[in-house]
Amino acid sequence: MLNRRDLLRLLPASVLLQATGRGATASEFTRIDTHIHIHQEAPALLGALEATGWRGLDIVVCPAVGDEAFDLDAKLAATREVARQGGGTLAWASTFDARGFEDPGFVERTVAHLRRTFDEGAIGVKIWKTIGMAIRSESGAYLLPDDPRLMPVYEAIRDADRTLLAHLAEPDGAWLPLDEDNPEYSYYSRNPQWHMLGKAGAPSKEEILAARDRVLSRFPDLRVVGCHLGSNEDDLDALSERLDAFPRLAVDTAARVRYFARGDRDRVIAFVTRHQDRILYGTDFTFRGGDEQAAARSMNARHELDWAFFASEGPMEYEGRPTLGLGLPESVLRKIFRENALRWLPGLNA
Ligand SMILES: [Zn+2]
Repeated sequence: MLNRRDLLRLLPASVLLQATGRGATASEFTRIDTHIHIHQEAPALLGALEATGWRGLDIVVCPAVGDEAFDLDAKLAATREVARQGGGTLAWASTFDARGFEDPGFVERTVAHLRRTFDEGAIGVKIWKTIGMAIRSESGAYLLPDDPRLMPVYEAIRDADRTLLAHLAEPDGAWLPLDEDNPEYSYYSRNPQWHMLGKAGAPSKEEILAARDRVLSRFPDLRVVGCHLGSNEDDLDALSERLDAFPRLAVDTAARVRYFARGDRDRVIAFVTRHQDRILYGTDFTFRGGDEQAAARSMNARHELDWAFFASEGPMEYEGRPTLGLGLPESVLRKIFRENALRWLPGLNA
C-alpha cells in the first residue's frame, strides 16, 4: 500500500516517464541531490523537497577573490539555519576563505574554523575554482590545490571523517575561444572572469587537475567528490582513468547531465555502468532569492527531467536537444540517486 507521501514521490517521475519512453521505473526510494545551494530562508523549497521525497546537501561556497569583502560567517550561519528548518531534509557542507593563505596563522585559523563548522554539523568541506583560477599570492602566482599550506587543511578534513567537495578547474570551454562554437559560450560570455584563455601566468586546466590529483595521492584515505564530473565532463576516458587511479574519488553530476545527454549514448552507458559505485547525482540548483514558488517548480522539474534521462529509455528532449534516455537498471539508479551519496557523505540524513 502506498501512503500519500509515497504517491507524491512516485507521481512526477511516473507521469513524465509515460510521456518520455519505455522501460522506465518510477523511483521507490528516497533520492538525494548532493549539490544544492540555498543560503536564505526558503520554506517553499524545503516543502517541495519534502513533498517530492528528495533529500539533499546544501553546500556553502566562498566565491570571494581579490580583496572584496565577503561575510562567510553570515553565509554559514544562514545555511545552518536552512538545514535546521529542513528538519533533516538538507545536510550542509562548509567551506573556508583561502585568500589569506600567505598570512601567518592561516593554517591554524582555517583548521580551527573548519572544526567549529564540524561541531555545528557540517558533513563536508567545499573548495572552489577560485583555487587554481583566481586566488593569487602577493607575488602574483596562482594558488594551486596542492599548495603546502592547504595540506594541513585536507588532513583536518580527513581526520574529522568529513568529505572534501572539490570543484576545481572548469569545462574545456574555459580555455577555448569565446565564440558560438564554445559549448560553454553562454556561461563564459556572462562570466568572463572565469574564461581563462590568454590569462597571463594562469595554470592550464591540466595543471590544476594534476595538482588536485597530487592531493588525492597524498591523502589516499580522504573521501573526495569531484564536483561537475571532476571537470572532466569533456573527456569521459580521462575521467575513467582517474577514477581507476584514485579509489576514494567519486564525482557528482551537478549541472553536467547535459554532457551525458549530448554524448555518445553507448559510451555514456558504458562509463556509468563501469563507475556505478562512484557517481553521485547532484544538480547545482541555486536559490538566488525572488519568487520561491517558481524556484521550487524549476528545482522539481530539474529532478524529474534528470530522473527521466537516467531511468527511461526512448526519445526525450534535454535542454532543447533531442536525446535518448539511458534506461539504466534499477540497481544502478539506486546507487547514483542514493546509495553512493550515503557512502561518500556520511552524516547525510536520508
Ligand atoms: Zn555548485
